[in-house]
Amino acid sequence: MTDHASTTTYVYSFKEGNGKNKKLLGGKGANLCEMTQIGINVPPGFVISTEACLSYLDTHNHDLPSDLMEQVRKQITALEKTTGKGFGDAENMLLLSVRSGSALSMPGMMDTILNLGLNSKTLPGLIKQTGNERFAWDAYRRFIQLFGKVALGISDEKFDKPFDLIKKREGLTEDTELSADHFREISDIFLEVIRNETGKPFPEDVYEQLQLSIKAVFNSWMGKRAIDYRREFKITTDMANGTAVNIQTMVFGNMGDDCATGVGFTRNPGTGENVMFGEFLINAQGEDVVAGIRTPKPVHELEQDMPQMYRELVALRDRLEGHYREVQDYEYTIEKGVLFCLQTRDGKMNAAARVRTSLEMANEELITRDQALLRVDPEELEQLLHPRLDPESKQMPIAQGLPASPGAASGQIVFDADRAELSRDDGIEVILVREETKPEDIHGFFAAEGVLTSRGGKTSHAAVVARGMGKPCVAGAEGIEVDVEKHMARIGDTVLHEGDMITIDGANGNVYLGEIDTVPPRFSDELRTLLSWADEIAELKIMSNADTIDSATQASDYGAMGIGLCRTERMFNAQDRLPLVIDMILAKDKLDRQEALDRLRPIQRGDFKDLFKVMSPRPVTIRLLDPPIHEFLPSEKQLEHEIEHLQHLKDTVEGVNDLMNTMQLLRREADAKELPKPFAPGGRELVDAAIAKKQQMLLKVRELFEVNPMLGHRGVRLGITYPEIYEMQVRAVLEAAAECSKEGFDVQPEIMVPQVCTGQELLWVKNIVDQVRIDIEAKYDTKLKFKFGSMIEVVRACMRAGRLAEIADFFSFGTNDLTQSSFSFSREDAENKFLPLYEENNILEDNPFETLDVKGVGRLMDITVKWGRKTNPDLKVGICGEQGGHPESIRFCHRIGLNYVSCSAPRVPIARLAAAQAKLTEKDYLTDL
Ligand code: ADP
Ligand code: MG
Ligand code: MG
Repeated sequence: MTDHASTTTYVYSFKEGNGKNKKLLGGKGANLCEMTQIGINVPPGFVISTEACLSYLDTHNHDLPSDLMEQVRKQITALEKTTGKGFGDAENMLLLSVRSGSALSMPGMMDTILNLGLNSKTLPGLIKQTGNERFAWDAYRRFIQLFGKVALGISDEKFDKPFDLIKKREGLTEDTELSADHFREISDIFLEVIRNETGKPFPEDVYEQLQLSIKAVFNSWMGKRAIDYRREFKITTDMANGTAVNIQTMVFGNMGDDCATGVGFTRNPGTGENVMFGEFLINAQGEDVVAGIRTPKPVHELEQDMPQMYRELVALRDRLEGHYREVQDYEYTIEKGVLFCLQTRDGKMNAAARVRTSLEMANEELITRDQALLRVDPEELEQLLHPRLDPESKQMPIAQGLPASPGAASGQIVFDADRAELSRDDGIEVILVREETKPEDIHGFFAAEGVLTSRGGKTSHAAVVARGMGKPCVAGAEGIEVDVEKHMARIGDTVLHEGDMITIDGANGNVYLGEIDTVPPRFSDELRTLLSWADEIAELKIMSNADTIDSATQASDYGAMGIGLCRTERMFNAQDRLPLVIDMILAKDKLDRQEALDRLRPIQRGDFKDLFKVMSPRPVTIRLLDPPIHEFLPSEKQLEHEIEHLQHLKDTVEGVNDLMNTMQLLRREADAKELPKPFAPGGRELVDAAIAKKQQMLLKVRELFEVNPMLGHRGVRLGITYPEIYEMQVRAVLEAAAECSKEGFDVQPEIMVPQVCTGQELLWVKNIVDQVRIDIEAKYDTKLKFKFGSMIEVVRACMRAGRLAEIADFFSFGTNDLTQSSFSFSREDAENKFLPLYEENNILEDNPFETLDVKGVGRLMDITVKWGRKTNPDLKVGICGEQGGHPESIRFCHRIGLNYVSCSAPRVPIARLAAAQAKLTEKDYLTDL
C-alpha cells in the first residue's frame, strides 16, 4: 500500500458501479450494477474495471495492478457479509462465477467459470449443505473442467475423451444418466489431467483460483478469437478497450425441480410482437440452455410449471423494458423458488421486428417518435424491400460475382433478351445470363426475374439498369464462361444449358444451381407509418430516379415526392423506338432527321404523359438526351459479323434459287407447284436491303468513333450540334404537360440539361425552350408552368455556379460524373483495377462512387450551393447520383442545405428514414468543410 499509483479504484460493487459507464465496467458489468441499483434481484457481486485490464496488459510480465487483489479481498469480505457465507469455508462455502464482459458484446470471447471456490475441503460441505451428492460432484467436475480450460489453457478434448470413455463403459448416452459415483470418478480423472498437463496440482487455495481466473479473463482480450472478432466487426479501441471481470455469487438452477434457468426477450425478436418470448429448462444450469444439451421449453409453459415464478418473470420483463426503454435480451435463474436476473442487454432483431417495435414502443410512449426513428438503421430496411433467399436454405453457391443489385430470384437460364421476352410471354420465369449487357438488351431486363453477367463491375450497364428497376443482379461473375452462340455457360466442370434453373442473390453476389425458395418483400403498414413520421421531420425531399411507369409507380408507392431524374435515353431503347432512333442517327441531312424525330415525338410525349399522371401533382425532372449517340448502334465488330453472315445468306439464297430453277427444268412434265418454296421470289432483294442498311450503320459507327466517348460528343454538346433532337424532346415534354393540364392533371415538369460546363451552353438550350414554349402556349392556348435547370457534373460548372444559377431554376448534382471528373478516375476502370487495393490500404477510406467523397467532391458541392444561391436565392438544389440513396451521403446533403436527393425507387424508403435521421442528428455532425 506504499505505492502511490495504487490509489486507483479498480473494483466496484454492483451496488456502487455506474450503470451508464460501459467503457469502464463493460456492458454486462454496467447492467448488473444498474439492475442491482434499481432493485432487481441480481446475485450480489462486483466488477473489476477495464482499466485494470489495460494496466495489466500494459505491464511487461503481465502483473496485476499491485493492490488489485487487496481491493478484491475487501469486496469478497463484503460479499461474505451480505450472503452470510465464507469464501473457502468448508461448512458454508461462498461459490462464485467469473464472467468477462467488454463495452461491446463479443460473443464467445471467453467462457464463464462457474462454481469457483470448490476444492477438496469445501466439496463435502456442499454435499452436506445440499444433501445432493450427485449435484455436488457434478458441480465440482464442471468447475475443474472449466477452470482447466479457461484459466489453465488445457484443451477441451483432454477432458472430453475420458468423460466419453466412462459413458461408453457404462453404456450411457446422456449426461443426465450419470450417477454421483460416476461424477466422483470423473472429477478424480480431471484432477489428474490438470496435474499431467500443467505439472502442478489443481490449486486448492480459493484466492489462487480467483487470481488465475482474473488473469485468464484479462488475457482473453488479446486472444486470437477476440482479436479476429474485433477486426471482423471493425471494433476500435474507441468503442471497446479491454474487458472487465464480473465476480458474482453463484445461484443454482440445478438443485432440483423447484429450480430452473432460462433466457428471454422482452418482445419477439422475429416479428417484434409484444409478447413474452424465450426458453427455459427445469433443473439445469445456464450453459445447458445455450449448449443445446437438452431441448428447452417455450417460456409460456413456465406458467403451468411454476405459476408464481412466471408472474415474477413477467414483472421482471416489464421492469427491464420500463427502465431501459429498449427491447432487452435477458438471462435468469430460479433457485428454490427465488428468481434472479443474471444479465440484460439490448436485444438484436431483424428489420421487420425493429420497425414494429419502434412503432409500438412509441405508441406505448415508452420512447419518443424521434427515438423510434433513430432506432432503425436505414440500410436494414433493404431486407424488407427485396425478396430474400430463404434463410433456412443451406445450399452452396456454384459461382460468385459482385452484389450489383439486391434481391434474390430464380429462373431458367436464357442467353439473350429476345429469348427472355419469348419465355416470359410463355409464362416462364427466366434469368438473363450474358457476358455483359448493352442498351439494346433492355427488353430482356423487363422480361427477366434477374440478370447475371460474367463481366463488368457494379456500374456496368447490367448493374445500373437492374438497380434502377429494382431487379436482382449479379455482375462480373468471372468464374462463369458464357458462350452466347452455343447457348451454354461453363463453371469449372459444370455446363449450364438454356432452360437450366439457377438462383442468384444480388445481396451477396452468389449464384446457385436450381431453385431456392425466396421470402417476398413486405412494405408493411408499420413501415409506412414510421416513414410518415420521418417525412414530418426531414427537411430533404426524397425523389426517385425513374424512367418507366413501373418504376414510377413503385417509387410513388414507396413514398417518393417526385421524380428527380428521368433518363430519356432509356425510353429510346425500348423495342418500338430503337429503329426510329437508328433512322434518326443514320439520317443523311437535317430534313431526313426531322422526319425520324417527328415520328419519335408522339411516342416520347406519350411516355411523359404517363409519368406526369402517375406522379401528379409532384414534380418530374426530365433530362434531355445524354449519352453519345453511337451507344444506340451495335458495335463495329458485331456489324462486321452480321454483314458477313448476310453475305453468306445471299449466296445461300442464290444457291437455293438455282436449285429450284434446275429442278423445274428437270421435271418439266411434273407439276411445278409441288416443289418446295423456301424463299419467296423477293428474298434476294430483302437480303440486299438488309446488307445495305447494315453497311450504312457500319459507316456511321466508324464515323462516330471517339477515343473517349464519356468525355466526347455527348450531353449538351450533342444538343447544340443537333438542336433538332433537343427541340423534339422539349416539345414532347411541353406538349405532354399542356395535354395533361387540359385533362385536369396538376403537372410540374422540370427540364434538365446534362453535362453543362458554361453559361453559354445553358443559354443556348434555354433559347430553344423559350421558343418552343411560345409555340405550345399558342397552340394549346394555355400558360405553361415548368422549371428549367442544369445537371452539375463537371468541375467547371461548379466553379461557374453563380453564372449558371442566373439561367437555371435548379441544379442537380450528377455525382457519378462529378466524382469521375474530380478524381480524373473513370469509374469502370477504377473499380475493376485499383480501387479495391486503394481501399484495402486505406489510400481511400471508401469507394467514392458508392459513398460520396465528402472531403473533395462534397466540398465542391458545398461551394456550388453557396455560389449558386448568391445569384439566385431561390435556387433549388438536389442530387441524382447513386450516392443520393446512401444514408451517410444523405447526411452530408442535409448538412450543405440541398433541397432534395433522388435515388432508385427501392432505396426511397431508406432515404426517407435517413433524411429524418440527418435532421435529428445534425448537431453531432462535425465534418469540417
Ligand atoms: P456469456 O457472456 O457467454 O453469456 P455469461 O457470463 O453470461 O457468459 O455466463 C454464461 C452463463 O453462465 C450464464 O448464462 C448463466 O447461466 C451462467 N452463470 C453466470 N454467472 C452465474 C451465476 N452467478 N450463477 C449462476 N449461473 C451463472
Ligand atoms: Mg450471458
Ligand atoms: Mg452524368
